[in-house]
Amino acid sequence: MRKKIVAGNWKMNKTADEAQALLSEVINMVKDEVTGDVKVVLCTPSIYLASAQQQVTPGGKVSIGAQNCHEKASGAYTGEISAPMLQSIGIEYVILGHSERRQYFGETNAQLAEKVNITLQNGLIPIFCCGESRDLRENGDYIGFVKDQITESLFHLSAESFGNVVIAYEPIWAIGTGLTASSAQAQDMHFELRQHIAGQYGDTVAQDTTILYGGSANAQNAAELFARPDVDGGLIGGASLKAADFLTVVKAA
Ligand code: PGA
Repeated sequence: MRKKIVAGNWKMNKTADEAQALLSEVINMVKDEVTGDVKVVLCTPSIYLASAQQQVTPGGKVSIGAQNCHEKASGAYTGEISAPMLQSIGIEYVILGHSERRQYFGETNAQLAEKVNITLQNGLIPIFCCGESRDLRENGDYIGFVKDQITESLFHLSAESFGNVVIAYEPIWAIGTGLTASSAQAQDMHFELRQHIAGQYGDTVAQDTTILYGGSANAQNAAELFARPDVDGGLIGGASLKAADFLTVVKAA
């Protein structure tokens, strides 16, 4: 059975005090209020990762994730952080290929394939983001475009390695816009992606792959999105910045 995951992507938000307050609140609320087997992942800014990691129990309900890492293991890359560094402080998850990184930092499918490799080599779980623009959704082969993102960044992996990857479908037109995909739109794409994975790795691997939805998912719409059979949780931006809202989303999963 595939894992249910609700991941919070804090992006570039929160000062140290604010981050600590949110972290403590979420950890306590999850401990007191969340039953069931949903995994909660908090993807904090990298400056807070080490401290956050020390406040969670390894293998517990809450894990800490990074929002990016470099594709090389070490070297002269000023300002960057590497997968071995993340692994060395106990981090378990890394978001890769978020549309904001593709857009503002020019990340390509080929580069992301390298990032996927280095994270897996270091025992980290990549949360691989994919998704189409509004223009493609309205005028193009948007399903083919998202399938190609997955093919080009992930399908070089062995079935065993692929089994450690989490996918997050995040239509760009829904991110931070308040324009959530309808649960039917999310389900349709997740179903297509699972079929695509089955074509490469077979049905068992496809059925075991966790596919998250992201893009204006929030306390109001999460339950309907997560009720769809191929939606295995969410990658939550804005609604992960308030503990109570985030907890509502977690409970919906
Ligand atoms: P949003 O962001 O929930 O604020 O739309 C989601 C994301 O970018 O991961």
